[in-house]
Amino acid sequence: MENGLDLQRILDKTAEDCRALTGDGKPASYIPELATVNPKLFSISAATLDGAVLSSGDTNARFSMQSMSKVISLAFALERFGHDDVFSKVGMEPCSEPFNSIMKLEMTSNHTPLNPFINSGSIVMAGLIAERLGESALEEVLGFASRMTGNKRGLEVNERVYRSESMTADRNRSLAYFMHSIGTLSFDVERSLDLYFRMCSIEVGTGDLAVMGATLANAGKSPATGEQITSLDNSYTVIGIMSVCGLYNESADFAVKVGVPAKSGVSGGIVCAVPGKMGLAVFSPPLDAGGNSVAGVKALSGLSRQMKLRGI
Ligand code: GLU
Repeated sequence: MENGLDLQRILDKTAEDCRALTGDGKPASYIPELATVNPKLFSISAATLDGAVLSSGDTNARFSMQSMSKVISLAFALERFGHDDVFSKVGMEPCSEPFNSIMKLEMTSNHTPLNPFINSGSIVMAGLIAERLGESALEEVLGFASRMTGNKRGLEVNERVYRSESMTADRNRSLAYFMHSIGTLSFDVERSLDLYFRMCSIEVGTGDLAVMGATLANAGKSPATGEQITSLDNSYTVIGIMSVCGLYNESADFAVKVGVPAKSGVSGGIVCAVPGKMGLAVFSPPLDAGGNSVAGVKALSGLSRQMKLRGI
């Protein structure tokens, strides 16, 4: 494993080489607030299991977690309600359809969403959390997310992103009302969606995400604080699902190119958990057709090769 100096050099070189590699990518615009971002921003961070966090590029950039929050809601639900309860509500198989597909809402034979990382599955997770925890749901999830990311000031919801998403969420509303009509989503639709939108709008930087990845990579124990945040088994479950479902319907492509468990979000972030080694995170807003950061995938593919991180 590289020492701190080598790792910093590798990150600096990656930032220099990859920040402009955005191809034809464009920032997401279906959530209007996301389109207001500077598309040239690029930030990359690594968190090692001994507690170091190294970053390069526009390291002050802050952005919303979007689908990377699905890692938080899954880990939180597993910790609070247990494996069997969670997986009676969602499956854990990869999905061949886009993350918000409504043309073909892929379900398991029990009429549950195929996995917790597609929108339908994560809305069901949000419904479960909102139903069980009531008024304290958001506060508890934010507290958990702050501990997972080692963020001492505490993570917060970006209200502008939240409002923008909530006001333009026809697709997610359609999914949620449909799931409610068939009993897949048992809790109140608008309250489930409200928690889902707020979780997607939690604001982070790549340093936060790298620590979150490192916590999972370290069997659930935070390298930043030493706290055991998820059980060993729950960290394995989350990492396993990141391995097969983390990059929407480009998950297999990412496994071939990069080969590490990861989760992307339409804000342009990607968080990786490299078991037993480190957490990595990258941010660059222009997305490919599948909704994944173009420069982010290229940066991670280079890092994985250079540091021999491939493990799935
Ligand atoms: N909040 C976004 C949505 O529900 C998340 C999508 C994503 O990052 O994949 O559409």
